[in-house]
Amino acid sequence: MTTAEPHGTLALHPPRSALSAHDPGGSNATSSRPSPAGEVEPSPWADPGRASIARRLARRARTVRASEAFATTAVLIALHMSGLAGSARDTASALADAVGLPHVTPGMPSPLLSYTSLALGIQTASLLLGLALAGAVVSMPFSYVGGFRLARSVGLGTQSTGAWARDYTVASVLGAGLVAILAGLVGWASAGAPHLWWVAATLLGTLGTVVVTYLAPVLVLPLFYNLTPLPDGPVRTRLVDLTTQAGTTVRGCDVIDQSRRSRTANAGIIGLGRTRRIMVTDTLLEGGYSTAEIAAIFAHELGHHVHGDMAWAIVVDGILMAGCLAMTEAVRAWLAPSIGLGGAGDLAGVPVTLLLFGVVSTLTMPLRAGISRWRELRADSYGVRLTQDPEAWVRTLERLGWQNLAEVDPPRWIEWATYTHPAIARRIASARRTGLAATSPPVQP
Ligand SMILES: [Zn+2]
Repeated sequence: MTTAEPHGTLALHPPRSALSAHDPGGSNATSSRPSPAGEVEPSPWADPGRASIARRLARRARTVRASEAFATTAVLIALHMSGLAGSARDTASALADAVGLPHVTPGMPSPLLSYTSLALGIQTASLLLGLALAGAVVSMPFSYVGGFRLARSVGLGTQSTGAWARDYTVASVLGAGLVAILAGLVGWASAGAPHLWWVAATLLGTLGTVVVTYLAPVLVLPLFYNLTPLPDGPVRTRLVDLTTQAGTTVRGCDVIDQSRRSRTANAGIIGLGRTRRIMVTDTLLEGGYSTAEIAAIFAHELGHHVHGDMAWAIVVDGILMAGCLAMTEAVRAWLAPSIGLGGAGDLAGVPVTLLLFGVVSTLTMPLRAGISRWRELRADSYGVRLTQDPEAWVRTLERLGWQNLAEVDPPRWIEWATYTHPAIARRIASARRTGLAATSPPVQP
């Protein structure tokens, strides 16, 4: 995709970047291109004032995310050191007792098909439900500032405070429910070998990702957006032509009403298997982009489609998750005796486990981001070779960067460590190199 995260969308920019209201150049605008005399004309999208706003926006968004990570860390440490984690474990145990389930001795293995394992699953689910809801409360001010106020302050956000609060509440409750279900299944499945909980978490987490990705277009996205099929017209005709040219099939293309929330534009692949389709925002279709520019975006998405990037991302995430969870368990087991925790089945250790997992995940973020950037450049290259029109893709990247207030050329180390999509400046340079080198459309893999 051009922008959406995770897996998939066109993402041109890091999370939360967005765009602007008007279209100064219209669909006939040209990008930087050599003049007959060989000089490069400045792109109408290279607006120094807007670039400066985009840099400031990106810096503030990073500050908010770092502050949120700091606050979450502090809360998890406090939960452990204050003894609240132990009390929460005892409350969860009392809940299981209250419904007549047997008492669970932390760390004591029990057969999978037993009431003791069921009790452990219920305790784990209720504890994680409470933690997830508490986490949503801790994160709310950061999400409000970083995801709502900042966008409003630069003219990107179009949502009312009430609508934002409704979205945040629905997403938090839905997320907490999914976390609780997953945690309950992990607690139950690992009751027979508590120290192998990370294997159950990897397998069930990956399965959960598959299910949620499959259901996203039909159950999840409709909670937040109206999805309508792409209407007949030149854009749809061009998409069908490109799909035929690519030798593939696409089950559909949906338009989502992003304009109710934001002026940013985006596109991406959503769903999996029978639910997989291309998604574009109404702000893209109505943003003054030419058919050639929208075709360039479709071609990028088709690159993800033919390369199977959605399935690839799920597999890579599963492997990285297994590594991170195994390392988390190793460190937790090493630390446990010195910080007053029991074995792997001791639910009082959940906050420490979450904290360690956060640290390990952060350390592996550059690897995850680097793999994603590689796939994005691959889709870029595919799209340019499919359309044979690198300049249309370059114009699209510039316009999306302008519209979404993306940081076009961020500090290299920040891009390396956190960007799932290459910076726009690098994507443009790569597209031009591909355009110079491409002599034929890509071959269907
Ligand atoms: Zn993409």
